[in-house]
Order: sequence, then structure tokens, then C-alpha cells
Amino acid sequence: MSNVITTKNPYTNKNLKNYTKQNEAQIESILEISEKTFKTWQRKPVSERAHMLDNVAEVLRNNIDTYANLMTDEMGKPISQSEAEIEKCIWLCDFYRKNAEQFLSDAIIETEAQESFISYDPLGTILAVMPWNYPFWQVMRFAVPTVTAGNTALLKHASNVTGCALIIQDIFSKAGYPKGCFQTLVTDHDVIETIIGDRRIKAVSLTGSEKAGKSIAETAGRHLKKCVLELGGNNACVVFADANLDKYLDIMVDARMQNTGQSCIAAKRFIVEESIYDEFLEKFTDKVKSLNEGNPKDDNSKMTVLARPDLAETLKNQVEKSLKKGARVHYGGKQEKAYYQPTILTEVKPSMPVFEEETFGPVAAITKVSNKQEAYDTLSNTRFGLGTMLFTEDIDDAKKRIIDVGDGAFFINEMVKSDPRIPFGGTRASGYGRELSKEGILEFVNAKTVYIN
Ligand code: NAP
Repeated sequence: MSNVITTKNPYTNKNLKNYTKQNEAQIESILEISEKTFKTWQRKPVSERAHMLDNVAEVLRNNIDTYANLMTDEMGKPISQSEAEIEKCIWLCDFYRKNAEQFLSDAIIETEAQESFISYDPLGTILAVMPWNYPFWQVMRFAVPTVTAGNTALLKHASNVTGCALIIQDIFSKAGYPKGCFQTLVTDHDVIETIIGDRRIKAVSLTGSEKAGKSIAETAGRHLKKCVLELGGNNACVVFADANLDKYLDIMVDARMQNTGQSCIAAKRFIVEESIYDEFLEKFTDKVKSLNEGNPKDDNSKMTVLARPDLAETLKNQVEKSLKKGARVHYGGKQEKAYYQPTILTEVKPSMPVFEEETFGPVAAITKVSNKQEAYDTLSNTRFGLGTMLFTEDIDDAKKRIIDVGDGAFFINEMVKSDPRIPFGGTRASGYGRELSKEGILEFVNAKTVYIN
């Protein structure tokens, strides 16, 4: 196996840069520095740690063009969306700077003791294994709360965004964090098993595919280490007969096509009530046709290439197998190298790959249902559980059905989205644990009971 990682621009098809993988001795030294730093970092008051997030935000703000361009070069994201991703990371820093101290303050519990409370103590070094689809946001939403809670962090990023991985380490360094607080591992994922087993790693957080989730959970389980798993999704976007299409259609299109369809929480299955089906399909198709496709470096591009040609091939196979089972291409369907045309499939049934599996690209799979009950049954007919979005004007009725949606999120008249203020995570094959909000910062702490008589 080569000891070099080469990153490649999926739009120009040109190689970007070679990175030499770290050897055993370098990884050992990274682990050592991380543990050593933890000993002092954990003792800093939370307020001091939280205050440093202002520096992270400032570094991000001052370098927004450089960071956005790097992201776009490495994985092809339209430049305006790369810039928006950095802005969102700044928002995340602001949120935890303002709230971390309160989230981590001792929780007093009245008992017969003189004093009893929960102390939220950091655990030590936490390993993060992250994907390429939001190269900054995925890492930051793990690192910002985890490091602010007093842990130190190691990042194994997806290899196609190795430049972003190293720049994020540089951001923490520029922001004045001690060297071992946040470090990047430049290595293959097959070394991860050994790293998880190392005594200095206390827990692991993975955002990635179901396959990687199973492998990491198995390794973490063998070593009795906690893990948080943010895995794939197959979200339903349900459109009831009374949905306000004029108001929400743009959101529905964005819910599928954002990030050129490469989002875990994207609307992958559209479940539409019969009486609004024709109107929905016509208006939805018009919007999809008008999406601006082009060079990711062009400010006006909304859709571009996928991050790698093999991702477009996988999508093509899923569509072809679904067509053999009776689905129809209503619009789109063209593929070339890393490009996959925004596509609408109709007559989609639960037995088809585009319904059963996660489609990681701009393919909207549409299923017609005859009534609300069939819609609820169909949306739940999946092994994934990241989120459901429902469009209806009857909010009271939708609220009565919250219990019927077994996912990590239920959004009514809005697309499922991540936001620093609210918890994010899945159920079933979409993983477990939560990121963001108070729940996220409490994932990697020891909720220690203190009892004083
Ligand atoms: P992936 O192939 O699972 O890779 C994710 C990360 O895991 C990469 O760093 C990868 O390293 C590593 N990895 C892969 N297989 C591994 C294994 N067997 N053991 C240890 N590490 C392993 O996923 P991806 O294609 O990059 O990302 C897309 C997936 O992520 C989709 O399924 C998407 O839904 C999911 N995702 C979920 C969320 C969420 O919050 N729930 C958010 C974003 C994305 P290498 O690059 O070296 O292979």
C-alpha cells in the first residue's frame, strides 16, 4: 500500500497535492502529546476554554476565502456553499462560547447529604473519524464542544479532504490552543482499529457510512470504549394533500439537492399524497430543471459534480437496478465521470434500491400514496432513522403523530437541518448519540456524582 495520499479535484480531474502518511513513531508522538496536554487543559476553567472560541471564530472569519476554496477544490462543493459552511462554523463557535459554561456547570441534586451534585468532567483524548461531505462543519461540530469540555481531540478525516484536515489543525494552533488540543492524523482507516485500542484513546466519534459505523462500533465495543455514531440517512419528505407548495417547494428541492445531494439528512424519499401528486410533480420538476449547474468556482452554481467518480457510479447502479424493478426516469439520469444530473424518479416502490438504500447524490425518488396513514406507514418503512420532514397545513394533526416518527428528528414545514442550538443525531441504522446543543457537549464527559456528608 502506498504511503502517500493524493487529493484530486473532482471537477477538473487534476491532482491537487500529495501527503505522506504518518508512520508509527509519528502517531505514537501525537498520542503522547495529546495525553500530556489533557493533563493541563482539563484543569483550565470552562470559561477560559470557552473564551478561546472567539479566537477560532476570528481565524475562520479572516480566512474564509482560502478555506472555502480549499473545500471546493478537494470535494467540488459550489463555492457559495463552502463559504456558508465556514459561516456556520463561526456560528457554532459563538454558540458554545456563550453557553458552554452553563451546560457544564455542576448540577445540584437535593439529597440528605450536606452537598450532592453532578460534576461534568472531561474524559481525555477523543478520536474523531469524519467524512468529506461537509469537510469543516462535520469536524467542527465534534471538536468545538468536545475540546471546550476539556478533552483533547484527534482527527482522522476522509482521505480526499486531507488538506482541510491539516488546515483545521492549523486553525486551532493559530487560535492559540496548546499543541496537543487538536491534532490531525494523516493515515489510512485500517490503522484506526489499533488507535481505538490504544489506552490513551478514551472514546470515539464517527460520522460516516453504515459500514464504517459497524466496524468502528465493533472495535470500540471490544475495547469497552464509548462511541457516538452519526451514520447514513434515508429521510422521507412527506407531502400531504393540504401542503402549501407555493410557500415550501423551494425548501423541498433544496432538501434533496443541497450539497449536490451529498447530505446525510437530505430528503431522499418523497412520499406524496395522491390528490396533490400531479401538481407537486409538475412544480417540483420545473424547479429542478431550473437549478443552476456549473463550475463549482462560479458564484452562481448551485449544483456541480459529486466528490468522486466512484460515487456517481454507485448512484448510477442504484438507479439502474431500481429502473429494472419498475421505477421511471421522469427527468435527468445522465452520468459522466463525477457528474450526475439532477434526477427525478417516479413509481418508486419500497423494494427498490433508491427507496431501501441511501442515495448520496441528486436523485429524488417519488412514491405516490393514497392517504395519510399510508404515508406514515411508508415513511417508517426504512432501517434508517435520521429524520423526517412533513409538509402540511394541519399542524395539530401532525403533532399528534410525533410518536409515529421513530427518527432522531421530525421537521414540519421545514427541511431537516443541523443547528448548533438543537440536538442532532439518529436512531436505528443511522447511529446513536447526539451532537450539538447541550446534549452534544455532554457526550464526551463523565457525569460524576459527588456526595458530601
Ligand atoms: P465513509 O466511507 O464511511 O467514510 C467516513 C470516514 O470513515 C472516513 O474518514 C473514512 O476514511 C473512514 N472509514 C471508512 N471505512 C472505515 C472503516 N472500516 N473503519 C474505520 N474508518 C473507516 O463515508 P463517506 O463516504 O466519507 O461519507 C458519506 C457517509 O457519511 C454517508 O453515508 C452519509 O450519510 C454519512 N454522513 C452522516 C452524517 C450524520 O451526521 N449522520 C453526516 C454526514 C455524512 P477513508 O477516507 O480513509 O476511507
